Amino acid sequence: MGKRALINVDYTVDFVADEGKLTCGKPGQAIEDNIVSITKDFIAADDFVVFAIDAHETGDNFHPETALFPPHNIIGTQGQELYGSLASVYAENKDKSSVHYFDKTRYSAFAGTDLEIKLRERGIDEIHLVGVCTDICVLHTAVDAYNKGFSIVVHQDAVASFNAAGHEWALGHFKETLGAKLV
Ligand code: ZN
Repeated sequence: MGKRALINVDYTVDFVADEGKLTCGKPGQAIEDNIVSITKDFIAADDFVVFAIDAHETGDNFHPETALFPPHNIIGTQGQELYGSLASVYAENKDKSSVHYFDKTRYSAFAGTDLEIKLRERGIDEIHLVGVCTDICVLHTAVDAYNKGFSIVVHQDAVASFNAAGHEWALGHFKETLGAKLV
């Protein structure tokens, strides 16, 4: 049997806090305890825990999101920091070799990052997803994971979106089209 990894997607101030630049608002805030407890469980089990966090530059006219969304998760701003108590869970554990934080610049945690190499070299074949937004960055990460042959587990009480219909649609898509397990 292979190993598992947890991928924390975009649970940052800009995507979750009331004052966030592209916030999921209440649905995002409501999953805080679940994300924190799942993350702690994976860290305690010494499983690979990844924080894949959106990172943008101000006025990046070459980036497709610039035309689609207000500026968000600008590198070095408070908006890019992890939200709520997930920030302290990361801070307390960031020196562990099983904990890995990296910037991503596209929706998928696999796009232009070394995530796949990190997973393969550790013999990981099952990825667990938590974070936001269910129907954007979590979805695109799941699609890439599917295409690369990873098994997918989505923690449905630890993903959220500002778009309730998109959230529900994505949960169905994970299960019915990507063969993901919803737990
Ligand atoms: Zn973005």
